[in-house]
Amino acid sequence: MKFDVLTIFPEMFSSYLRFGILGRAIEKGLVDVRVVNIRDFARGRHKTTDDRPYGGGEGMVMKAGPIHRALKSVERVNGKTHVALLSPQGRRLDQSIAWELSGWDQLILVCGRYEGVDERVRLTCIDSELSIGDYILSGGELGAMVLMEVISRLIPGVLGGERSNLEDSFEEGLLEYPQYTRPGVFQGKEVPPLLLSGDHEKIRLWRRTESLKRTVERRPDLLKKARLTPEDKMILDSLRKNPEGS
Ligand code: SAM
Repeated sequence: MKFDVLTIFPEMFSSYLRFGILGRAIEKGLVDVRVVNIRDFARGRHKTTDDRPYGGGEGMVMKAGPIHRALKSVERVNGKTHVALLSPQGRRLDQSIAWELSGWDQLILVCGRYEGVDERVRLTCIDSELSIGDYILSGGELGAMVLMEVISRLIPGVLGGERSNLEDSFEEGLLEYPQYTRPGVFQGKEVPPLLLSGDHEKIRLWRRTESLKRTVERRPDLLKKARLTPEDKMILDSLRKNPEGS
């Protein structure tokens, strides 16, 4: 997967891209990230990337020209490129959209700032608008980082164990079960004894039940779209009869 990020603040990415799973994926060559400084494509003595809005009003708007030229400078992977504008008005990112986006070979992410970007950028150069949630950030850079991280985790080889992301919250439309590590007792709270039993089948069932229980308690909306097995339905039935049971 190749990401090209267009921003007026390229320095924001330098430390972020060096660490953790994404940093390792870049090192291994599984993910390639290029950060393009939109200002390099601005014209005039002051290299201005923003201007006052037509019609008046507060704030500044990012000019179309520098973004358009920056986009043209990006080398495209044959036919499998998608250009996304980070925007609070876009499709709201979730795990299924992340899977969909992971199918592209190249994602070009355009980060807005100020009051946003000139509408003609959206009209002429953008394939889709993506939001990372119903709130307003000061710029698209954090959104681009979130997108790169979420999508990279789905690329084969990026996570240590091939299966480890499949149990994450949302992958099957459910929240994940609670996790424990040493010590066995912390602040008087014990690890559920079943997790120490070594009985893999019992542990699997306990985890599935906890996962369903959490989803019912915290995000019942997810259950409507979740991929439920006949066993899940039985567990849900017994949880309805005995909500404390596990
Ligand atoms: N005036 C714009 C509006 O109401 O739609 C918001 C502009 S916002 C202050 C500046 C930039 O931050 C946007 O152009 C976008 O790139 C980014 N941004 C803000 N909130 C975002 C969100 N929830 N998801 C993705 N990008 C966001």
